[in-house]
Parts: sequence; C-alpha cells; structure tokens
Amino acid sequence: MVRNDIRISSREPLAQDFKIISYEQKAPIPIDRDKWLRLWSPGGAYFNNNHGFSSDYQPYGEWVNGKEIRVFREPSVARPCLEATVEGLCEMVDELGLKLDVLDYDIEASVQPMIDASTEYGVLDGEQLSRRLFAESYRDTNKGGKQHADVLLTSKPLRLGDENWGETRFNTGAMIMSLPQGRQGSYDFIGNVAKHEAAHLLGFQEHHARVGNVIGYAEPEDCLTNWQCSTRDICERDEDALLAFWLGIEQKTGQQYLKR
Ligand SMILES: [Zn+2]
Ligand SMILES: [Zn+2]
Repeated sequence: MVRNDIRISSREPLAQDFKIISYEQKAPIPIDRDKWLRLWSPGGAYFNNNHGFSSDYQPYGEWVNGKEIRVFREPSVARPCLEATVEGLCEMVDELGLKLDVLDYDIEASVQPMIDASTEYGVLDGEQLSRRLFAESYRDTNKGGKQHADVLLTSKPLRLGDENWGETRFNTGAMIMSLPQGRQGSYDFIGNVAKHEAAHLLGFQEHHARVGNVIGYAEPEDCLTNWQCSTRDICERDEDALLAFWLGIEQKTGQQYLKR
C-alpha cells in the first residue's frame, strides 16, 4: 500500500501535462504554489526527449547550451523595430537573471532564404521556419556552428493568423515577430510583444489567463503573459514558473544559467 502510494506520488507531472489540463477543463483543479513550481521545474526533462527531425539530430532545447540569442531583421523591417525587440528581450532575460547573451545581427543574407522557403502566397509559416532554424548548420557544432536561439523580424503576416504579432517556441529556439508596414511605428508595443515572446522563448509556453488560479499568488490586474501584451509586468506566479524551469535545466545540464 505505502509503496504504491509513493510510486504514484513520485511521478512528477510535466508542464505539458498541466497545459492539457488547463486547456481542456473550464475550471482547472486549483493547485498550490509548491505544486505549481514542481510542474515547471522538470523543464530540464525536455532534454530527455529525442524529438528532432531525425533520431540522430539534437534533442529539443539544445540551443540553451550556447547561451546565446541572435536577433535578425528582414530589410523590409525598419531598424528601430529591431532595437525595440532587443530591448524587450533583454528586459526579460535580465529580470530572470539569466546568463544569456542577446546579440544584434541586424540584416544577414543567410536568413532570407530560410524565410522565403517558409513563405507561401506571402504568408509565413512560422512552424516551418522554426524547424528550419532548428536544423540550420549555424547551430551545428560539428559544422563549426554554435548553439543559439534565433529571433527573426519579418514584414510578412503569419500563417498562425494575421492578428498575431509573434510566434515562438522554446523547443526549437525560434522567435518570430511579424511586423508588416502598419505595425512598424509602434515601438513601445513592439517592446511589449518582444518581452511577451521572450517569456515563451525562455520556456513559458502558456498565457496568463489560460492557467487556473494557483493558491498563494495574488491575481494581478494584468500580466505580460496575457496575449494582449498590454503590460511589461510579469506576475509573480509566471516569473516563479520561469525560474523553476531554468533551475530544472540547471539540474539537468549541470550548467549554470541563473545569476545568483
Ligand atoms: Zn501572469
Ligand atoms: Zn503568447
């Protein structure tokens, strides 16, 4: 009996499990702070999964090994948009105290073919692009590359839906900002979106309102991780989730990512 109990309770659910719960149930089961942190701390478990394109390719999340985020823009995206993006990104990285370098690559000829190959009828397939970036030789240490995440600013609308300003995945280390001409003057808002997307890039693949209440946290008026991107303030609950996620990565990799 006792043994059984231990076995069952020792199975730590992953963040993904929680996502399914919060997605499909109207009223998610209320959980407390400890449970919340445990849901995110096995973030390092991403490194166990060999989900790459081919079984011999790198496992998901490999980009964190390079501790680097590279930011690029299409020539059709104005330079200040990139600066606003870098600002939002750095704000998120710094607030968490992560030791990740954000590097401004501006315009690089090598990026355009990947964007173009992922574009059909003028619409960018962000998932396809994210897979291309994941597999690029620039990340492959065997080909003289270095692991990193990529942030691309495009003037194309996203296949995900043209109302979306961003599309981001931690697993492939890819963040795409969709900035057609009409959006390129809203630097402040671009910064908000960039910081919101940075939270996704750094492992918080959720939106604030989609998660049920966690006992022990006050409900904020607004939160960075709400899809509206109307604030740059992240709530304590979601920041704790991100910190727990990176602690999990540290445990998994034996590397230090968080400044202490
Ligand atoms: Zn929140
Ligand atoms: Zn989002």
